[in-house]
Amino acid sequence: MGKNNFIVAIDGYAGSGKSTIAKEVAKRLNFFYLDTGAMYRALTYKIIKEKIDYQKEQELKKILKNLKIDFKKENKETKIYLNNEDVTDKIRAPKVEKLVSPISAIKIVREKMVKLQRKIAHQKSLIAEGRDITSIVFPKANLKIFVDCELKERAKRRFKEAKEKGYKVSFLKVLENLILRDKIDQEREHSPLRKTPDSIYLNTTNLTIEEEIDLVKSLIEYLLKKKK
Ligand code: C5P
Repeated sequence: MGKNNFIVAIDGYAGSGKSTIAKEVAKRLNFFYLDTGAMYRALTYKIIKEKIDYQKEQELKKILKNLKIDFKKENKETKIYLNNEDVTDKIRAPKVEKLVSPISAIKIVREKMVKLQRKIAHQKSLIAEGRDITSIVFPKANLKIFVDCELKERAKRRFKEAKEKGYKVSFLKVLENLILRDKIDQEREHSPLRKTPDSIYLNTTNLTIEEEIDLVKSLIEYLLKKKK
């Protein structure tokens, strides 16, 4: 964290709305948006594509060493590139969603990702979201938020998204994936998902997207004024 930049760290459960909030508030305030989940998904996509046995440390180390992830703004949307390939849509596939949490639980994967995230963020004002942003990646962030939402509502939102993207998944499969991912993310040994004591708790179950965005944006604007 520098003197002139402002860091917002957001953690929360899968499908809680944190990506939507972070992306839109970042756009409105002209902050950089750092989707760390997309980075873990990009790695998972590569592992699947190259048929890597991620449980073999040597193979995993090799893939991590050559991993290049870039975020590029194109027509106001942020695209994610993996070794120069645009993987923005591919990383949302159900097969990636199934494997991403077990892969994210591995220590050397987390170490590499945290390093990359801090490097990408260097000296920028940004909104970063994920599972270990408030606890590990930016423990000194200017604002920390933990986003929660009722499970059924989260599954409804994710199911709608999957259908819109053309994936053939059942509501039950979406629900099952959310439960499993949250369980692995919370119970893992290395940087588990948890609400830090200094995070603001935000439950989005009964809020509209616009209300969530307004709330977080107002909080940031208030703190920015106070910082000056
Ligand atoms: O946020 P999203 O649902 O895209 O994240 C996908 C998965 O990546 C999570 O379920 C979690 O296993 C992993 N992840 C993580 N740490 C982060 C961000 C995501 O372990 N900071």
